[in-house]
Amino acid sequence: MSVKIAVLPGDGIGREIVDEALKVLDVLNKHFDLNAEWEEAAIGGAGYDESGDPYPEATRKLCRDSDAVLLGAVGGPKWEPLDKPLRPEAGLLRIREDLGLFANYRPAKVHEQLIHASTLKPEVIQGVDILVVRELVSGIYFGQPRGIETLPNGEKRGFNTLAYKTSEIERIARKAFEAARLRRNKVCSIDKANVLESTEYWREVVTALHAAEYSDVELSHMYVDNAAMQLIRNPKQFDVIVTTNMFGDILSDEASMLTGSIGMLPSASIGEVFAMYEPIHGSAPDIAGQNLANPLATILSVSMLLRFSLDRADLADKVEQAVENTLNAGVRTVDLADGGVSVSCSGMGDAVCKELEALA
Ligand code: NAD
Repeated sequence: MSVKIAVLPGDGIGREIVDEALKVLDVLNKHFDLNAEWEEAAIGGAGYDESGDPYPEATRKLCRDSDAVLLGAVGGPKWEPLDKPLRPEAGLLRIREDLGLFANYRPAKVHEQLIHASTLKPEVIQGVDILVVRELVSGIYFGQPRGIETLPNGEKRGFNTLAYKTSEIERIARKAFEAARLRRNKVCSIDKANVLESTEYWREVVTALHAAEYSDVELSHMYVDNAAMQLIRNPKQFDVIVTTNMFGDILSDEASMLTGSIGMLPSASIGEVFAMYEPIHGSAPDIAGQNLANPLATILSVSMLLRFSLDRADLADKVEQAVENTLNAGVRTVDLADGGVSVSCSGMGDAVCKELEALA
């Protein structure tokens, strides 16, 4: 039986990087026993251009009819003057919310061959392998009330709401504990419980769930300001990090820089029914259309898709091995340039496909 993937290239470098990921899926169809089909739809600026909506109804339907979604990136200066609900980024928030993608997994693993691409000392980052599990559909990015208002004295005020319900905390903490059991069995829950009641409650719920169902997993708690520091000082202390939407947004970008390039990091956003896979970077308008982007984050997102949505850990391992072999051969896109063989975006995709074919 074939599996169906909804492919949403999006904007900027989205088209280029997704094309390389599709080449990898082609190799898996031809040389391995994957039977995948895919269909494309517009999202972000491309969605707005096509139908006046950054998350068009046709895209929504396709995603809901598919086994998984693969997304490139959205955004660009062309759409910045639009009203907020019409901007590409609004499409991204809506698809996450609509598909109920409450758990965002962002692995930050240092590839041995790229240790010198990081701005941190090799001895600090060697062996770093962190999984950030970020809550994605609640917290301050979604809380109501929100807005900008004028006070009776004429002064203006911007405001947002940070709130978490028991069920929202439990379901994300559960994902983190389960992920940890398949790794080094450690979870660090990050909050600001000393100042914010919403995260004081977060800590209380995580602690109770741990005691009730996951006492075999090692649990620690850390304030977010300390966590930001510890990620740079001694990142190897972390295995799985679980945290709120905004803290996760910030800390996972920080963790990504441990690995050298944002062009290397994939992500998975998972709900009870649907799942979406995308690189963590944006649409990189500064290099779009030049065949310069690093497609590895998108190719590694395909690997996460195989592992989590299609239950094909065997093929996910092959894709990851092919990426390792490509890096071992010294093949580098410009963002990774360290004296290796410099290739284009499509050149990197071709190199990974060649290594993958060799593993068939
Ligand atoms: P960005 O991630 O697009 O780019 C930051 C820097 O990293 C740029 O110099 C870019 O050239 C480089 N870069 C990013 N991906 C790369 C890759 N694969 N290979 C090589 N270099 C790469 O972030 P930004 O510049 O802050 O945002 C650009 C646009 O992307 C904005 O419209 C923003 O809203 C949007 N954005 C979208 C997403 C998403 O789709 N998930 C995430 C972040 C930003």
